[in-house]
Amino acid sequence: EGMNAQDLGKILHREPAEIVKKLFMLGVMTNQNQSLDKDTIELLAAEYGIESEEKVHEDISDIDNLYTKEMEASKESKNQVKRPPVVTIMGHVDHGKTTLLDRLRHTNVSEHEAGGITQSIGAYQVRLDDRLITFLDTPGHAAFSNMRARGAEITDIVVLVVAADDGVMPQTIEAIDHAKSAQVPIIVAVNKIDKPGANPDHVMEQLMKYGLVPEDWGGDTIFVKISAKTGENVDDLLQMILLQADVMELQADPQQKAIGTVVEARLDKGRGPVADLLVQQGTLKIGDPIVIGDTYGRVRVMTNDKGRRVKKATPSTPVEITGLNDVPSSADKLVVFDDEKTARSVGEQRAKNALEKQRENVQHVTLDNLFDTMKRENMKEVDIVLKADVQGSAEALQQSLEKIDVEGVRVNIIHSGVGAINESDVTLAGASNAFIIGFNVRPTATAKSQAESDNVDIRLYNIIYKAMDDVEAAMKGMLEPTY
Ligand code: GDP
Repeated sequence: EGMNAQDLGKILHREPAEIVKKLFMLGVMTNQNQSLDKDTIELLAAEYGIESEEKVHEDISDIDNLYTKEMEASKESKNQVKRPPVVTIMGHVDHGKTTLLDRLRHTNVSEHEAGGITQSIGAYQVRLDDRLITFLDTPGHAAFSNMRARGAEITDIVVLVVAADDGVMPQTIEAIDHAKSAQVPIIVAVNKIDKPGANPDHVMEQLMKYGLVPEDWGGDTIFVKISAKTGENVDDLLQMILLQADVMELQADPQQKAIGTVVEARLDKGRGPVADLLVQQGTLKIGDPIVIGDTYGRVRVMTNDKGRRVKKATPSTPVEITGLNDVPSSADKLVVFDDEKTARSVGEQRAKNALEKQRENVQHVTLDNLFDTMKRENMKEVDIVLKADVQGSAEALQQSLEKIDVEGVRVNIIHSGVGAINESDVTLAGASNAFIIGFNVRPTATAKSQAESDNVDIRLYNIIYKAMDDVEAAMKGMLEPTY
């Protein structure tokens, strides 16, 4: 489903025109772009004497493609309705991004919701006059561009915060450039107007140089003078965001298959893999069979930004979900499948492909004879598979380990991830003679027995410098033996 004559032409290695002609002979009127139903595809496959199953399968594991198709389909849809804008806040350090996010988080939250607002799920929604605005909770252009670099473009509008007592600073300019290169419109929030030294007009003058000209001065950029601290004019800012959203005609079709993007993901001790995601099209429902990146499962529990369990999530809604087999990465795309079996096989296929890709560029070494191997093979790198409980620790440890340098030999993290050490980690380490470091995580039972039979070394730590010390000692041939 969702495939047209062009796609089938590719799979069957025929010209799309030939496919259209063939279908015509079979009594199906179509053009190259019209999507075909399952029966028609099977009919056609039978006509070409091909067990299409596997090839069609290959195609549906391309979830980027499925995602793009749903995104495109929404543009043609007659069921489109207005959707809330998705906003990222950017600006120079200390100009008030966090203060503004906190202020907004507590704005327009009705009494009965107030209990749940501490919930952090990577994004939250603010209500103004019965309309919603979605704010991504990680401010700054680094997060924004990281997501973009991984193919996720979820921000509709950038709010650029500039402190009126400080003016345009280096990161202000960076933020402008990042937003511009993503072609995301900027609304300027001139902040800290409550301060004695505040000079909002100066900020506006400065920003003209970067093409941000206020409407009053003949430009088309919206400026709002606010105080994130006192809350002054913060409602005006929300109003302007909604106005900008109207100009952009942001719409989505809540009736089509849901697609979305992961904002954050982690392993929860009690609940297993947890993903915070933004639904972009369609409506995500409890029980939906899903693939996210290289993981799969069913939406088991869905929680909104107020900490409440919900049964469905419409476009631009941030939700936290459980029910995945593994922890996905931020910026991973979510697609929904008709049945769990398909989702599972697609997910497994994708995980396998990802593993193979990782294997392609690995070198061989073991921990036990690390020092000897280093000398014998004149190694320049020591390979490690790294697993941690949260992304932050994984990154911190990776950075620390990669700083180790023993006479020109360095550490190379061939795979780093969040979650328990699993079989695929052991397989990867075994295949590349790497060893595994677990930080605040442990191997699963099967991973543990596999590691024992494959002689893969797993080292567990909960202190970063201890892990660094051990690795460095091993590289110097001075590691204490463990029993
Ligand atoms: P960020 O680095 O951009 O996230 O900036 P913060 O939100 O952490 O703010 C930096 C400092 O500026 C904090 O001490 C805030 O209390 C202060 N601040 C933020 N907004 C305002 C404002 O509107 N008025 C005043 N007077 N101080 C503010």
